Amino acid sequence: MQTKPTITHRWILAAIMFLLLASFNIEAQESADVLHAGVARIDITPKEPVTLSGYGSRKDLSKGVHDPLSARVVAFENNGKRLVLVSTDLLGFYGGTAEQFRKTILAKFKLQPDELFLTGIHTHSAPTLTLDKDKGHENNLKYTKTLEGKLIRVIAEALDSTAPVRIGAGIGYSPVGCNRREVRLDGAGWPKEAIKLGRNPYGPTDKQVLVAKIANADGAPVAVLFDYATHATALGPKNYRISGDVLGLAEQFVEKILGPDLIAPAFAGASGDIDPWYRILPEFNTESGWIPEPVLLGTLLGEEVVHVYRNIKQTSPAGKIETAFIKLALPKKPDDNSNDKTTYLNITAARAGDIAFIGFGCEMCTEIGMAIKAASPFKHTFVITHCNGAAGYLPTKDMYKEGGYEVRTSPFAPQAAGMVIKQSLKMLYQL
Ligand SMILES: [Zn+2]
Repeated sequence: MQTKPTITHRWILAAIMFLLLASFNIEAQESADVLHAGVARIDITPKEPVTLSGYGSRKDLSKGVHDPLSARVVAFENNGKRLVLVSTDLLGFYGGTAEQFRKTILAKFKLQPDELFLTGIHTHSAPTLTLDKDKGHENNLKYTKTLEGKLIRVIAEALDSTAPVRIGAGIGYSPVGCNRREVRLDGAGWPKEAIKLGRNPYGPTDKQVLVAKIANADGAPVAVLFDYATHATALGPKNYRISGDVLGLAEQFVEKILGPDLIAPAFAGASGDIDPWYRILPEFNTESGWIPEPVLLGTLLGEEVVHVYRNIKQTSPAGKIETAFIKLALPKKPDDNSNDKTTYLNITAARAGDIAFIGFGCEMCTEIGMAIKAASPFKHTFVITHCNGAAGYLPTKDMYKEGGYEVRTSPFAPQAAGMVIKQSLKMLYQL
């Protein structure tokens, strides 16, 4: 028997229609909020012998390659907003190259200054960058020019391949880095310069390994980003072979283990006062190219990245992008004799979904990075140094009482660290 639609039926129908419309609306909102990303990698190993950066004592040209250097790019995009993270197996962008390269890249891709993180992993076994033919070897000048072209190519490739992704993050810990501010007392008590570059196993060390996983819409991983606070200097100043050192070897390990279709860009955390646990000093223990220390430490760090990556069970397709940039004015050291008492630090902040990135154009001591992470409103905050500038060491206020290499070579006044922490948190909270 056919029944006429009753009042109740009509209400049920209306409710179903409402729910359908609502779900369409949610889907529309979700698709507008879906994070897109593209990734790319390019080899940047020098073809000719070059001078290596990071140690003033090393004057000769490089002798062969221990392991290759790469530039790795993750380009995020959402609703016309972009975030380009560039990790290079280099010391950083010194000698005016940060400014020059950024200018070229921003103009080429019409990016805003806050949409680009141009970073180096701080290996001391990579070419010195130079744009001045009077300052540096001709091979280095050639290398630097070629590098700029390669960075353009790899960024273009990443931006051209953006597709919907899922993103998630996890945290692990590694003993690879160690505080290097060793106290050496002489017989007469506290000497004038008691802090030496060495190993201080009880000193503050950020052992956190921060890992972000990016998978395509089908769930296949395309990138594993990791952030760890250590100088990439296990090879030490006697080394003449090209190498990514600890962080570069960790990237290569992760890529070997997790497959060729994925890139594993590393970022140097707040590592101003952190060195790898083993540093080859004063002499190499082995001959004929077999250098176990950096390989051991790179593998150890890479193992933890893979371990954390495998435990990231939750990923999300939603990913708002927000970015911010400031050229922060900071006071110079009181004993600086120049007329201008101000120096500048580039700080770049961004979020992709629930993951935050904060980049500093300096070598920040680890205590400062730990303070920023602890107070950040984000559960996962990548503190990235050697990013968008190369202003030198940023020590904590207390370190100025103790002295040591980081303080001696820093351009900043003791109160600068506090100002940087305050500014960083302001930027993170505003994202
Ligand atoms: Zn350094």
